Amino acid sequence: MSNHEKPSPEERLQQWIKPELLAARAYHVPDADGLIKLDAMENPYLLPVELLEEILQVITGAEINRYPDPDASDLKQSMREAMDIPEGMEIMLGNGSDELIQIIALAVAHSGETILAPEPGFVMYKIIADTVGAKYVGVDLNRDDFSLDNEAMLSAIEKHQPAVVFLAYPNNPTGNLFDEESINKIIHAAPGLVVVDEAYSAFSEKSFMQRLGEFDNLVVMRTLSKSGLAGLRLGILTGPALWLNELDKLRLPYNINTLSQKLAELILSRYDILEQQAEIICANRSALFEQLQLIDGVYPWQSSANFILFKSTDKSADEISASLLEQGILIKNVSASFPVLKDCLRVTVGTEDENEAFVAALKLALSS
Ligand SMILES: *Cc1c(COP(=O)(O)O)cnc(C)c1O
Repeated sequence: MSNHEKPSPEERLQQWIKPELLAARAYHVPDADGLIKLDAMENPYLLPVELLEEILQVITGAEINRYPDPDASDLKQSMREAMDIPEGMEIMLGNGSDELIQIIALAVAHSGETILAPEPGFVMYKIIADTVGAKYVGVDLNRDDFSLDNEAMLSAIEKHQPAVVFLAYPNNPTGNLFDEESINKIIHAAPGLVVVDEAYSAFSEKSFMQRLGEFDNLVVMRTLSKSGLAGLRLGILTGPALWLNELDKLRLPYNINTLSQKLAELILSRYDILEQQAEIICANRSALFEQLQLIDGVYPWQSSANFILFKSTDKSADEISASLLEQGILIKNVSASFPVLKDCLRVTVGTEDENEAFVAALKLALSS
């Protein structure tokens, strides 16, 4: 192109947008209008009516002409209590934990630093690493039960010297909890930060929260999305001030809006409501798992989260999800996301009625 020639709109874009972004594909969220929505690990239950009065009061009293509390101090205090965050550990809030993952990735990436995670795993680790210019390394889990391959993890850590290791605990999309001793070893071996991502802690018995003080390079991440407040967008990072003070410099001022702060504070003061709902969801999970086990050609994996991964041996995942959609049910087809998940689908645990409708539709999908 000569100096005098005006670039085409396309050329201008290619010139200025960074190549890793041009190469990336936007995260696609399917339209769920009118469907039974079992694709995104949302809590299917609404808050009880008696809380709605108080919610209205909070909304009415919120000064939305003012900027929010930049530190969300009151909300952090409620979280400290509700989640039993250890004394002395710092808290940083994100607009969803996705934002926290992005902040962590931005903080370490300056010349192709490595972000490492086991696979199949949460896809945002890679998507975010790619867009911030970090190198992403996925390490295969054991094939049969999706447990950590200790040797593979430790040698990948040794070889790639990752700035950050993400461990989803329980893991998404497989639903299992990794072995605690394996995680210990990873934290000890990691040269940089280890993020234990406890997005599904509400549905599992185990947590690294109380072990925070033991390691200087461990942080624990949680979210309120899966336990009932997906619409408020609230992610929580807890850990040593040494790390969080640096990460906090990347957080944009006022990233948690006033309504999210005030509503979450109120709802966390009644955390027992969300805990009871989580208990019901866990009971629904057991019932759904049993039903899936009884279906010929369907192999579900045990889950410590609010979803179940299953494999189909007789029909392709594409055929199943198309038939389910036709029947008004949306689940997640993860078949193309990782080679070992060929013909696997992930269903979020819904209400009893939703799960029944899903099981009936799945049987029909398999028999047609
Ligand atoms: C859903 C999910 C998140 C992100 O949740 P937010 O809604 O952004 O808070 C993070 N990690 C894992 C493993 C998840 O499944």
